[in-house]
Amino acid sequence: MEAKPITDLSKLCIHTITTRPWCLDDAIGHYAAAGVAGISVWRQAIEGLDPARAGRRIREAGMAVVSLVRGGFYPATEKKDRQRAIDENLRIIDEAAALGAPHVVLVCGAVPGQSLEESRKQIREGIEATLAHAAETGIKLAIEPLHPMYADSRSAVNTLGQANDMAEAIDSPLVGVAVDVYHLWWDPDLERQIRRCGRLGKILAFHICDWKTPTEDLLYDRGLMGEGCIPIRRIRGWVEAAGFAGFNEVEIFSTARWTQDQQQWLQEILRAYREAS
Ligand code: ZN
Repeated sequence: MEAKPITDLSKLCIHTITTRPWCLDDAIGHYAAAGVAGISVWRQAIEGLDPARAGRRIREAGMAVVSLVRGGFYPATEKKDRQRAIDENLRIIDEAAALGAPHVVLVCGAVPGQSLEESRKQIREGIEATLAHAAETGIKLAIEPLHPMYADSRSAVNTLGQANDMAEAIDSPLVGVAVDVYHLWWDPDLERQIRRCGRLGKILAFHICDWKTPTEDLLYDRGLMGEGCIPIRRIRGWVEAAGFAGFNEVEIFSTARWTQDQQQWLQEILRAYREAS
């Protein structure tokens, strides 16, 4: 069943990467003025800043800190490199806690030439190695399955079924899943896996954008909602029917959009959010 059309901005969150040319202060000011309700903060947006102060500024502007993006990248052929990734993820968890973000989004990682099974095993071990620290700080970890075109080097977790399997196997209330329509829209098993994720109580985030035809860059050519072929409202309906009541997070990496006037881009996002999400 399709979700009801969106009539207000109370669940609109924007990822800072979506308006990459803006520094965090500019993003906070412009989003808040436009009525955006939440921000997902990318780490590069707070590089060199005090995350606690950044979090305070966001809340003082009347917005929620929805997530910190991103941790992960656990797999590596050398043990010392896997340990380095774990150490980095411990720091990321601290950053999320200081920022006041409830969860960290995990781009889990993969190594070209290493089997996907081995990478998945290392991802699970990497997540498990940070669980005690996540528990101390109260930070949740959201496994984000990535489209299979990224299976070589960005994530060996490529379907919601695999993400559910991993979250279920780890069996911690701190570990859940981020559902991103860009990565998952093509999957014939998606509706069933969203229901399953809901039953497990593990839908931590819902990310939206669109799939352009043709897609000219594997990473930096995401579309604005309505510009492509993803049935966003239908997928939102499944996620909401599965019990998710959190933010709709606009996450668009687009070289073309980053070169345009960002104020105008923000206005286009607001319109597309109402009309095509
Ligand atoms: Zn995402």
